[in-house]
Amino acid sequence: MSLPDLGPKPLLGYTASILARVAERRSDTAFLAACEADKRAGTFAIGGELVVMKKGRNGADPLFRPDEARALAPTAEGVFLGLAGDAGRFGIALDPEATKALKGRSDLFVTDLRSIAVQGLVGPEHLAPLAEAKALLAWHARHRFCANCGVATNVSQAGWKRECPSCKVEHFPRTDPVVIMLAIDGDKCLLGRAGRFVANMWSCLAGFVEAAETIEDAVRREIFEESGIRCTDVNYYMTQPWPYPSSLMIGCTARATNEDIVVDRAELEDARWFDRDEVALMLQRRHPNGIAPPPPVAIAHHIIRAWVEDESPLGARAPVRAERARR
Ligand SMILES: [Zn+2]
Repeated sequence: MSLPDLGPKPLLGYTASILARVAERRSDTAFLAACEADKRAGTFAIGGELVVMKKGRNGADPLFRPDEARALAPTAEGVFLGLAGDAGRFGIALDPEATKALKGRSDLFVTDLRSIAVQGLVGPEHLAPLAEAKALLAWHARHRFCANCGVATNVSQAGWKRECPSCKVEHFPRTDPVVIMLAIDGDKCLLGRAGRFVANMWSCLAGFVEAAETIEDAVRREIFEESGIRCTDVNYYMTQPWPYPSSLMIGCTARATNEDIVVDRAELEDARWFDRDEVALMLQRRHPNGIAPPPPVAIAHHIIRAWVEDESPLGARAPVRAERARR
C-alpha cells in the first residue's frame, strides 16, 4: 500500500501561541499600567462573535493601541492576555451591537473569528491570542453574576478571575473539554455528517466530556451513542483550543470492534465507513462526489490526515497500543 503525498502539513488553527501568559504578573497593577502605556502594546477588540481589525496595505491588522481600541465603541471587560516578547497583549470587549455598526467604517474590517481563521485573514501569530481573547471575553459576558448567590461580581487578576463581594466565592474562566475522535477499523475509518455542517463536509464524531468522566470513556460513549460502534484502544493524538465559546478539543483515535452502524439521527444526518483511498481523495479535494473533510484550521482535518498518512496512533502499521480492552 502506498501512502498518498498530501503536501506540506498545514498549521493547526489557534495553537502555537507566541504569548507568555505571565500569570504571576496579573495582580501587579504597576506592571500592567506600564505595559499598557508602552508604545508596543496591542489590544484585540472583540464584540460578541465579531473581531474588529484595521484595514492595512498587507491585509487586516487586528492590533489596536489600547486607547484606540477603547474609542471604537462602548466597552465592557478588558483582559491581559500576556506578553509578545516585551509587548503587552490585551483584549477588550466591545458592545456587540455597536460592533456590528463598525462594519460601515471604511478604515476597519469587521468579521467573525472562524472566517479569519479559515481564510487566513491575519498573520498566523495572531490566531492563538485572538482565540485566548475571544474565549476569555465570552466567559466574562456570560458570568457577570455570582452563580452561588446572584450578586454582580467584580473582575480581578487582569481578567482571569471574578470575585463575589457578597458571599466571597471566586469564579474562574472555564474551559469545556470536548472529545473529537476517529474510530478506525483496519483500513477504514468512521466519519459522520451533522445537519449544521456545510454541504458535502464529513468529519470525526465529537461530543462534550461529561462530569466525572475520563477522556477514554467519553470517546467510547460518544462513538457508541452516535453510531452504535463499540471501541477499544483509545489513544490521545493532539488538542486544539476552540473558542466557540470556550472548548478544548481533545483529538483521539479508537479501534472499532463492530461494523454495523446505527446512526443517532438526533445528532447526525449520517455516518458511514470510508476507506483510506477515499479519504485521501477527500483530503486532496479530488473526491468524485465533491465531499471533503473539515478545513486545515480544524483538528479533525489533522486527525484524519494523520490516519491516512499512517501517523496516527492507530495507523495501519502502528502496533496495537496498550489501553486495557473492554467488553
Ligand atoms: Zn456570591
